[in-house]
Amino acid sequence: MIHLRSGSARLTSCTMDVVSCSSLMFWSRRILGYRCAFHVPALLASVMICSSLLCPAGAFLYNNRYAGDRVLRITPSNEQEVRALKGILGLMKVDFWQPNSASLIHQNRSVDVHVKHHDIRGIHKRLTDQKISYQVLISNLQKEIEKQTGHRSSRKRRAESQYDYEVYHSLEEIQSWMFEMNRTQPDLVGLFSVGKSYEGRPLYVLQLGKRNQKKAVWIDCGVHAREWIGPAFCQWFVKEAISSYQYDSAMTRLLNQLSFYIMPVFNVDGYHYSWNTDRFWRKTRSKIRKFHCRGVDANRNWKVKWCDEGASSHPCDDTYCGPFPESEPEVKAVAKFLRKNKKRIKAYISIHAYAQMLLYPYSYKYAMIPNFNCVESAASSAVKALYSAYGVRYRYGPASTTLYVSSGSSIDWAYKNGIPYAFAFELRDTGYFGFLLPESLIKPTCTETTRAVKAIASGLLKKCNPDKDRFPYI
Ligand SMILES: [Zn+2]
Repeated sequence: MIHLRSGSARLTSCTMDVVSCSSLMFWSRRILGYRCAFHVPALLASVMICSSLLCPAGAFLYNNRYAGDRVLRITPSNEQEVRALKGILGLMKVDFWQPNSASLIHQNRSVDVHVKHHDIRGIHKRLTDQKISYQVLISNLQKEIEKQTGHRSSRKRRAESQYDYEVYHSLEEIQSWMFEMNRTQPDLVGLFSVGKSYEGRPLYVLQLGKRNQKKAVWIDCGVHAREWIGPAFCQWFVKEAISSYQYDSAMTRLLNQLSFYIMPVFNVDGYHYSWNTDRFWRKTRSKIRKFHCRGVDANRNWKVKWCDEGASSHPCDDTYCGPFPESEPEVKAVAKFLRKNKKRIKAYISIHAYAQMLLYPYSYKYAMIPNFNCVESAASSAVKALYSAYGVRYRYGPASTTLYVSSGSSIDWAYKNGIPYAFAFELRDTGYFGFLLPESLIKPTCTETTRAVKAIASGLLKKCNPDKDRFPYI
C-alpha cells in the first residue's frame, strides 16, 4: 500500500508525489510520530522531504492536464436548441457533468459540460452559430482543482495530531483510517470486506453500532469516483456517530437499536484513478476485450431493468451499463451482501453529488412505489432536518421525475429486492463548484447530511402504515 520511491522526486510527476506524500505523512504519523520524522531511515525521510519541497501547494497536479479547460453551463430554451445542442455536444467529446449524457438534455434544464482547452473555440463558434447562449462556470479548471486539493501544506499541519475530517483523503488514507476506527473503537466499529474490486483491492465495509441488531441501514459512498464529497461524508458520519454516542440521545438510540453498514468507497479502483490520473473519472476501471474504453457506470450495472432508458450500451460512455448485469465485481459483491441480509436491512442509502436532491424509487419509470406515503414522509423529514442546519434547500421525490430516468440503478435494485426505504442523496452544490466542492464546505455539507440520515434512520424505529390513498400522486 505504501509506495516508496527513490529520493529524487521528479517535478513532472507531481501528482504521484503529492499522493505518496500524503499517505507517507499519514503512515509516518502512525508509525513514527511527526516529531521524529527526520530521524527515520534515510530512504523514507528523503522521499518525504523531496515530495513536500519539490511539489509545493499542488503545482502540476495531474501533470497540469486541465490547464485552460472550462466548465460551461448551457440551458436550451426550446426544442430546436435541444436538438442543436445534442448534436454539438454529441459530436465533440465533452465530459458531461450534469446530466450524464447528451440523450438526457431537455428544454430549460441546465447542462454543465467540461470542455478541453483546445475545443473551446470550436464549441463557442458552434453555439454562437446556433444562437445558443452559455455561461462559463469555471474558466480555468486546473486552477480550481488546485484550489480544492492543492493546499497540502496546511492540510499536513492540521492533520498532525489527529485525522482531519475537513480534507479529502486518498484511498490509502481512508483504508488506514478504517483499520484505526476498528482498532480504537472495537465496541462500536467492526470491519470486514465484501469482496475484491476489478483491480484486486479489498471492498471494506464498517459495521457501526452495538452488535447484531435486528434492523440495519446500509450507506455507500464513492460509487462514482469523481464525487469526492461522498467518501468524506461516510467518514464524517462514522466520526459523528462515535463522538456523540452517549452524549446525543438520538444517536445513542440509533446505535443501540440499529446496525449501520458503511462503505466509504464503493468504487475503489475508480477513486484511486481519480486521485492519481483523471480527476473527473466516474466509472469503474474494468476492461472488456475489443474496446479501448475502460469502466462501467456502477449505478447502471444493477439487475433491474438493466441497460434500458438512461443507460448506454457503448463502453466509451459515462453511463455505460456494462456487458451484463452485475458484471462489475464491486456491484456483484455488494448485491450479494445486500441479498443475504435483506431481511435486516430496512434502508439503503447511496451518497452522490452534485444536485442537492434526495431521490427515491423509481428511477427507471414514472410510477408510484407501493409504500410511497412512508417513503415520501421519510424524505420530507430528512430534507427538513438538513435545512435546519444551514438553510440549504434540497428538492426531493422519485428519481425519474426529480432528476431523470435511469435504469439499472442501485436504489431501484434495493427496493425491488425488498428494502423498503431506498434513497440516493445528491449532495452540494448545484453547479458552482460541481465535483470540485472546496474542502471548506466539507463540514457544513456533512453536518447537514448527517442530520438528514439521522432523520431517516430514526423513522425506521417507528411504525409506518403505507396508505396510498392519503397521498395521491401525479
Ligand atoms: Zn453519482
